[in-house]
Amino acid sequence: MRARIVAGNWKMNTVPSEGVGLVVEILEKLDSKYTGDTRVILSPPFTHLIDVIDHVWEVPQISVAAQNCHHEDNGAYTGEISAGMISDLNIDAVILGHSERRQYFGEDDALLAKKVNAAIRNSLMPIFCVGEVLEDRKANKHNEVVTSQLTQGLFHLSSEEFKNVIIAYEPVWAIGTGETASPQQAQDMHKSIRAHVASKYGEDAANNVSILYGGSVKPNNASEIFSQPDVDGGLIGGASLNADDFVSIVHAMA
Ligand code: PEP
Repeated sequence: MRARIVAGNWKMNTVPSEGVGLVVEILEKLDSKYTGDTRVILSPPFTHLIDVIDHVWEVPQISVAAQNCHHEDNGAYTGEISAGMISDLNIDAVILGHSERRQYFGEDDALLAKKVNAAIRNSLMPIFCVGEVLEDRKANKHNEVVTSQLTQGLFHLSSEEFKNVIIAYEPVWAIGTGETASPQQAQDMHKSIRAHVASKYGEDAANNVSILYGGSVKPNNASEIFSQPDVDGGLIGGASLNADDFVSIVHAMA
């Protein structure tokens, strides 16, 4: 049975005190010993990963993810953070391949494949984001683009390594725009992703991998998107910064 997951990507928002305030509020609204069926992942900026993990490490169904890592384990890379530094904080996941990293920081599939390796080598679960831009969708190339991102970024992993991966489908035209994929568009793409995984790793792996949808998920559209059979949860940006909205999205997964 694959995990149902709602992850909040705080992006470059919140100073440490605000981040702690947010996690405290989420815990109050969700339950400070939350054991729900939907796993919750919080992804704050690097500066308060440690503060956030301090608040949730004893909560069974809540964990913390970093938003990026470097592809090398250490060395002369001023300003960078390695996967080992993150996992040493007892953090168990990292978002990789987010479209903002691809678009603004030039992260291509080859670099992302190395980052995925660094994550796996350091016991971090990659939450690997894929998604097409609007032009690709208009040109009916969305399946091709997404399968290529998966092949190049992930499919060098062994079957054993692949068991640790979470996939997030985030159509770039839906991120932070207020526009969401329709539930059917999300389902179609998630089904195609699962079929692509099956073609490489087999049916069992495909049935076990969690595929999250991301792109302007809000309390008022979450249930419909999450009710699709191949949608196993969400990666939430803007709405994860408001405890009421985020918790109601978590409940929409139930
Ligand atoms: C995201 O950044 O991963 C995201 C889905 O953002 P938003 O929910 O704001 O569209």
